[in-house]
This record gives sequence, C-alpha cells and structure tokens, in this order.
Amino acid sequence: MPTRDTEPTGTGVAFDECAHCGRELERETWQPVRTVEDDDGTLSFLAFCDDDCHDAYGAASD
Ligand SMILES: [Zn+2]
Repeated sequence: MPTRDTEPTGTGVAFDECAHCGRELERETWQPVRTVEDDDGTLSFLAFCDDDCHDAYGAASD
C-alpha cells in the first residue's frame, strides 16, 4: 500500500508567504522551493509563489 510519508521537498515545513515578493502562498498547491545555507551552515527552505519569483530571487542574490 502506498504511503504519503515522503514529500519531494520541504517535508514538515510550512510556508506562509513567498520569500521574494511576500505574497501569501496557498497550502494546497505546489510552489518552487530552494534551500539556502545560513552563516552557521544551517540549511533553510525558501518557498516562492511561482517560477518568476524563484528565478528573480536567485538572480538578485548570486
Ligand atoms: Zn512571489
């Protein structure tokens, strides 16, 4: 029997708003996510409302 224990990304992490534009995210829909490494090496997840914000965030920070 298949289970739904494993999510592809962001397991157990709830996202409230887009990390780029701040728009509220819908819980039931897929959003692009990325991981970032903090200064102390801790990995954090960021979620975005769509691919445009995902790409814009990377372009601005890299
Ligand atoms: Zn956004």
